[in-house]
Amino acid sequence: MKLSDTDSIAAIATPAGVGAIAIVRLSGSNALEIADRVFRGHIKITEARGFSVHHGHILSPEGSIVDEVLATVFRSPQSYTGEDLVEFSCHGGMFVTQAVLDSALRSGARPAEPGEFSKRAFLNGRMDLSQAEAVADLIAARSDRARAASVQQLEGKLGSKVEQLRAGLTDLCALLELDLDFSEEGMDLVTREEIERRISDIHMLLGAMLETYEAGKIARDGVVVVLVGRPNAGKSSLFNSLLRERRAIVTSMPGTTRDTLEEAISIGGVLFRLVDTAGLREATDQAEREGVNRTFEQAEAADIILLVEDVTYNVDPAEIEAALDTLLKNQHLIVAMNKNDLVCWEPDLVQYDPFCKRGARIVKVSAKTGEGLEGLRRELFDAVTSGKIQSGEDVVLTSRRHRDVIMRAREDLSFALDTLHAGRTNEFIALDIRGALNHLGEVTGAVTSDEILNSVFSRFCIGK
Ligand code: GDP
Repeated sequence: MKLSDTDSIAAIATPAGVGAIAIVRLSGSNALEIADRVFRGHIKITEARGFSVHHGHILSPEGSIVDEVLATVFRSPQSYTGEDLVEFSCHGGMFVTQAVLDSALRSGARPAEPGEFSKRAFLNGRMDLSQAEAVADLIAARSDRARAASVQQLEGKLGSKVEQLRAGLTDLCALLELDLDFSEEGMDLVTREEIERRISDIHMLLGAMLETYEAGKIARDGVVVVLVGRPNAGKSSLFNSLLRERRAIVTSMPGTTRDTLEEAISIGGVLFRLVDTAGLREATDQAEREGVNRTFEQAEAADIILLVEDVTYNVDPAEIEAALDTLLKNQHLIVAMNKNDLVCWEPDLVQYDPFCKRGARIVKVSAKTGEGLEGLRRELFDAVTSGKIQSGEDVVLTSRRHRDVIMRAREDLSFALDTLHAGRTNEFIALDIRGALNHLGEVTGAVTSDEILNSVFSRFCIGK
């Protein structure tokens, strides 16, 4: 697609709702002409310089004033999309914003598809695919860690690291292919040891990148904490206290939290998604049974199981062993011994042996008085972050798509090493390396297809 061939698209770039200002964006080969059809100011937009702002009015095609606006002009290629682009900053009411957009649409623009501005930015070489994806992630970020990871990717760190590795593999491939001609004459341009070393180095670097995915996933999606425990242990109360607001219905009738509730809190810039469950008990009716089953499903998908125990309740270790056997897979386990305000004696920790055996952290809390909650927050933070979340400059993988293609690239390099060890000729090794090059190219979009682009950009919002 040639830059000048693109039709012009328009969309509201700010969120739906009411605010002081909203922005309507217009981009494409005839965006400036369309802008002139709807905008009346002291200067024609087609004559305006890039990076200039102009005061004026938006007119409907019938000539009536729609709104008073500022028009910011960006000229190709120095714009977000790389095309001519105009942003109208209008008043931030829902009707006025829509009316400004309608004027642009009735004057020759068409409605933008989700992510179409960013897709054009990618197609016009303004950013690589991983940067375009970072835009969507930055907008969707729900914690400071998620924001930081997206910004790092937006700056192009992942893209340049991957391109650097691709350059190394491209060199090696060229050398291997060239070597084929020479080897026919009995000369080797590159030794088998050298080939092995170069492939192994990149294989190792890809492995190190893949290891950052767990931390990246935490930064991006947050940590799922599922509260489980006996009815009446105080799960809902603790859930509410952690959220510092009352949302789940707290009653003294056991088994009332039948469905699950999810709320997010931020601890140390990390997003924790707290899930309150129906609890663990012998279900007597269908609804309760479903609630308990759902608890097990939720617990299985958790990063951390927060088991809430009533400290005044006499725990049966055998019963706990059985519950933990069913619940625990790879999740971290934190036990909150709740209602600590009701006891003035030191609880007998021996009965909590089953927890300790499984490496659980035990915290005494009171959902009622707030005692111990700070310690509980610290335990939640430490459980998943210790040693995993780096704040340094290193590239962190946050996207599953990136992880998957990098995994495939590494597999290709494993094949290349196997091929080498099997004593096969360079052309076969080069073939495996080409596979890795293609997979790595999918990270930045150097190698791409409509299918990949559609799946990446479909999750964007309209106007971005
Ligand atoms: P759930 O069934 O585990 O969700 O338990 P709830 O949160 O509904 O609490 C059951 C009962 O225990 C309610 O009457 C709460 O007020 C009470 N409760 C919860 N946490 C505490 C606590 O820390 N101290 C005291 N004294 N009562 C609590």
